[in-house]
Amino acid sequence: MSTQKTSSYLTKLKEIRETLLGDVEKTLKSSQSESTEPVADITDDATRAYTNQLMTSLGEQGWGKLKQVDEALEKIKNGTYGVCATCDQPIPEARLDVLPFAEFCVECLSKIESKTRPPTNDSGENILGGNA
Ligand SMILES: [Zn+2]
Repeated sequence: MSTQKTSSYLTKLKEIRETLLGDVEKTLKSSQSESTEPVADITDDATRAYTNQLMTSLGEQGWGKLKQVDEALEKIKNGTYGVCATCDQPIPEARLDVLPFAEFCVECLSKIESKTRPPTNDSGENILGGNA
């Protein structure tokens, strides 16, 4: 992937991150008392508490998305961006245009989803278990 293309995804990812975090961070920061302590003094506990607050504020979906965005940013840094995490094939740019934080190619994603979502009948029961 060209450097130019990668940097355009980098910009997109940062925008998504800012959108996700924007309101939440404002809320969290305003709820914290003003402090003059340097950043280096923030203990692990403080970081953990902040992370917990962030998770609660974002909700499961938003938090999951944030993690994906962070991982994609990390991959850009490592030069492994745009490669499927499962089959090591390049993820089509058309897919990345829609979903810049995509981790898998479409094929692997559908495999993963069919594994994590057991087939169900119309009433939503797991038809693999129970009495046939
Ligand atoms: Zn794949």
